[in-house]
Amino acid sequence: MADGCGCDQHARMYLTVTEALARGLAVADPIAETETVSLIDATGRVLAEDCTSKVDMPAFDNSAMDGFAVRTTDLGKGPVFNLPVAGRIAAGDSGAHDTPAGAALRIFTGAPVPADFDAVLMQEDCEATTGGIRFTRRPKPCQHIRRAGEDLKAGAPILSQGCEITAREAAALASAGYGDVNVFRKLKVTLFSTGNELQQPGEPLGPGQIYNSNRYMLRALLNKPWIDLMDIGPVADDPERLEQVLRQACDDADLIVTTGGVSVGDEDHMPRLFEAIGGQIDVMKVAMKPGKPIIFGRRGDALYVGLPGNPVSAFVTWQIIGSHMMARRAGLRHTPPTPEQAVLAEPLQRHAGRQEYRPVMIDDTTSDGVPRLRLMAPSYSGRVATLAQADGLAVIPAETETLPQGHKLPFLRF
Ligand code: AMP
Ligand code: MG
Repeated sequence: MADGCGCDQHARMYLTVTEALARGLAVADPIAETETVSLIDATGRVLAEDCTSKVDMPAFDNSAMDGFAVRTTDLGKGPVFNLPVAGRIAAGDSGAHDTPAGAALRIFTGAPVPADFDAVLMQEDCEATTGGIRFTRRPKPCQHIRRAGEDLKAGAPILSQGCEITAREAAALASAGYGDVNVFRKLKVTLFSTGNELQQPGEPLGPGQIYNSNRYMLRALLNKPWIDLMDIGPVADDPERLEQVLRQACDDADLIVTTGGVSVGDEDHMPRLFEAIGGQIDVMKVAMKPGKPIIFGRRGDALYVGLPGNPVSAFVTWQIIGSHMMARRAGLRHTPPTPEQAVLAEPLQRHAGRQEYRPVMIDDTTSDGVPRLRLMAPSYSGRVATLAQADGLAVIPAETETLPQGHKLPFLRF
C-alpha cells in the first residue's frame, strides 16, 4: 500500500485534489426548493432570487447636513447674505411648507428638501441673527442635497441569488423595501460517526476506547443558519446497523456526512454499504495528505460525503472538498478560497506523492507583510490537538520533496 512503503508510489492511481473537487462540485446540485420568509427571519439564509430595488435610493431629495435650505435665486450680490428663517423641516416630516420667497428654512440631515429650494448651507457656515441667519459664502446650486435615486434607481440590481444574507445583505434588502424574501429551504444534513472504539467525551475511557472528536468538530462545522442538522451520534462498526442508518439518512437528508470506515480495512464498511443500498460512488481515492480515504457519491437526491476517521484527515478533507460541496448543495454561490502567499520559516523535507495540507503556525511576518510559517506535526497523525493551535494549512505541492527556509508556499488561513 502507498502509505506502507512511505513513498506514495501509487499516488498516480488517485485523482488530484483539483480533479476530486471539480467532480464533487459537479455532483453537488443546489437544492431545488425555496421558501418565502420574512426579512426578520432571513438572517443567515441563502438568497434564492435576484433582487432589485423596489424604491429609488434615496426615495426623495433630502438634506445631507444640519443647516438651512435656501433658494439661490433669492440671494443678492454679497459679500454678506442675510435671510430670515421662516420654517423648519426635520427628518420624517413631509416636506410641506409655506416659507415665503426670500426666506430660508431650518433643515436637518435626512429631511426632505422642498422642490423650490435648491441648496443647503451647513449650520457651521451660518451665524444666527435675530430671526434669521447671516453667511458670507455663496452656496452653489444643489449643494448638500442628496437627490432622489442618486445612489440607486428603483429596479436596479442589488443582490444576486446564492448569497448568504449577513448584515450587509440584510441592510441592502431592508433599504430596498423587501419585507420578505425568497430563500433556499434549509439543507437537511445527517451526521454520524462510525467506530466501535468511540466514547463520548466526559465518560471514562475503557480499554481500546478513544473520545469521539469528529462528532463535535463536525457539529461545529455544520452549525450554519441554513442547515437543519440531524445528528445521529456514534454508530458501531456493525454492517447491519450501519446500513440501516445510512439508508434512512439517504431517504431523509440532502447531504449525509459520516466519519470513519471509508478505508480498506475489514471494519471499513461504508463504501460497500453505500453501493449495497443503491448509492453511486463518484470519488474514492484522492491524492491528498492527510485524507486519502474519502468517498463521495449520490443516492437519489441524497449526496454522501464519507470522511476518514482520523480527525485531522476528516477536518482537512472537509475544508478542502466537503465544505465546498455542502455550500453548493445549499444554493450558495461559492468559490473555494484562493490561498494567500506565505514563506517557510524553516526548511521542509517530506515524501513526494500527494498534495499535502500541513498545519502551520504563523511565526511572524516578513518586511513585506508576508506570513512566515512554522510547520507543525505532519498532518497524517491523529494529533488533532495541534489543529487547535494552528493558524492555517500550508499547501505543499504533490511533487515537492524538499524546500529551503524562506521558500514561498500557498497558505490557507483558518
Ligand atoms: P477509520 O477511518 O475508521 O479507519 O479510523 C481511522 C482512525 O481514526 C482510527 O485510529 C480511529 O480510531 C480514529 N477515529 C475514527 N473515528 C473517530 C472519531 N469520531 N473521533 C476520533 N477519532 C476517530
Ligand atoms: Mg473505523
